[in-house]
Amino acid sequence: MSTGADWADLLAELDRWALAGRRIALWLRDDDAVAPSGQLDRLAALGERFTVPVLLASIPLLAEEPLARRLESAPMLFPCQHGVTHENHAPAPQKKAEVGNHRPPDVALAEIAQGWRRLRELFGARALPVFVPPWNRIDPAIALALPGIGLAGLSCFRKFSLGAPGSPVLVNTDLDLIDWHGGRAGRHANDLLAEMLALLVQRRTRMAGDTQFGLLLHHRDHDAACWAFLEELLARIGSHAAIDFVTPQALFALPVDLERAAAGAMVAGSIGAFSVPRRPSDPPAEDATRDVP
Ligand SMILES: [Zn+2]
Repeated sequence: MSTGADWADLLAELDRWALAGRRIALWLRDDDAVAPSGQLDRLAALGERFTVPVLLASIPLLAEEPLARRLESAPMLFPCQHGVTHENHAPAPQKKAEVGNHRPPDVALAEIAQGWRRLRELFGARALPVFVPPWNRIDPAIALALPGIGLAGLSCFRKFSLGAPGSPVLVNTDLDLIDWHGGRAGRHANDLLAEMLALLVQRRTRMAGDTQFGLLLHHRDHDAACWAFLEELLARIGSHAAIDFVTPQALFALPVDLERAAAGAMVAGSIGAFSVPRRPSDPPAEDATRDVP
């Protein structure tokens, strides 16, 4: 899909952002967490090494108590809700969806509320009121009702948009590290760089303000290529003048948990204070064709 780009191309683009006095709020979302594992340990260590927070989308009715215990010593992993049981309710051959328009919205909402209660039992105050729909698909009628059951934020993939008043704060991810249809393998670094570069050029030339840029991760499915790209990206651009790492609380305009902030000075300090303006949503389109879990 691309002719490829290299690290020098990306760094040159970031220089152009810095020259224009503009900044990119880089953030990480990782999906499907249910239990501790070596892969989760690697994600936690990466967050701590680069001081980059990760929104950890956890499946509430499948998540296990040991995950909650593990997160107590993972200061950069911030759990939020990923669906309910991650079950597909769309009939074949439609695209998979757990909370699409295949059932009455009230039925799905009741399940989501049950999942949110379970998530809070599991993670306590650490559970962030942000909903990540499995396969990045959600019926807009359900999305609109999320704040009414306590879920103030929503995260899908780029181009998903919501416009109605009262909608949750929407912050989409932008770059998926995995090729789901090509063997669920890590995508080639040059393709990832080309896609990231194209998105940043588009935003720099079409928009006047700062922007957010989310990396979509799935630690359970990461191969060596995924980890290598992620580590190299953070190492190469993490300290660039155009890049800020942001907490999920800042991204989704959530109230700061003072108790937790005091307990984790690292989080409350340099990165926690950054607040990000919402960017206008991109026009709806292409994403609906994707099938990311
Ligand atoms: Zn998922």
